[in-house]
Amino acid sequence: MTEEFSGLKAIVTGGASGIGAAVASHIVARGGSVAVLDLAPENVAPPITALKCDVSDDAAVRAAVSEAADTLGGIDIVVNNAGIGAQGTVETNDDAEWHRVFDINVIGMVRVSRAALPYLRQSDHASIVNTCSIAATAGLPERALYGASKGAVLSLTLNMAADHLREGIRVNCVNPGTADTPWIGRLLAKAADPAAERAALEARQPHGRLVAPDEVAAAIAYLAGPLAGSTSGTSLAVDGGMQGLRLRPE
Ligand code: NAD
Repeated sequence: MTEEFSGLKAIVTGGASGIGAAVASHIVARGGSVAVLDLAPENVAPPITALKCDVSDDAAVRAAVSEAADTLGGIDIVVNNAGIGAQGTVETNDDAEWHRVFDINVIGMVRVSRAALPYLRQSDHASIVNTCSIAATAGLPERALYGASKGAVLSLTLNMAADHLREGIRVNCVNPGTADTPWIGRLLAKAADPAAERAALEARQPHGRLVAPDEVAAAIAYLAGPLAGSTSGTSLAVDGGMQGLRLRPE
């Protein structure tokens, strides 16, 4: 196992489950140290540092980022991964839902980045990776709100990359397709026949299966780590070929 993250300190939001948990494990397994900021820190085990934090609460974010920096001895990497889903159209999602989803999915990333930037400026390997989604550009039914929030994440990534490149801070994002996380498990559990629904969902993927969280984590870790030192302002799809093939998941 390589130690490409040796000496590097990362914070991962939403790292108590799914993609974020896979990212935290990936970085720790390669020599890095990680603090997870999540609503559910009880789901995080040592050696990963678990900090309770709601990314929609600015004071909580500032306190948790400061505590993470104190505990880890600085911050080199930020993985902005916390996010929530939403289904509906502009007629069925009301203003309160639009504000809630943007507050977590978009402004949450802004708050964490803002709090972490002073620490990142002190790092020789500073980078931010945002978890975006194929929904940012796919044009899917019932995803106006979620897709728009991820479209904002894509734009945030590209524009933050321009702001911080000259001070040595890279900013990139990863666009997962349908990934096999507890999030998808919760959606499938609502179906009359979850096993049949899972099989149908898998069949709709271009490569015939869901994306593994470890596959998304590896892409995030690549962009976060020193091997991507010349890469900023990019989005990397991990979607079974959906974007490249111009296919739609449903
Ligand atoms: P998940 O539900 O398994 O994990 C999400 C984690 O985020 C949980 O630990 C949860 O406690 C935490 N979280 C939620 N709201 C939070 C908040 N306000 N503050 C702090 N933490 C919060 O989900 P996942 O599938 O691993 O999704 C992770 C990211 O990947 C999300 O940004 C999601 O939009 C994105 N994504 C997921 C898929 C997919 O198919 N699973 C596809 C594309 C993009």
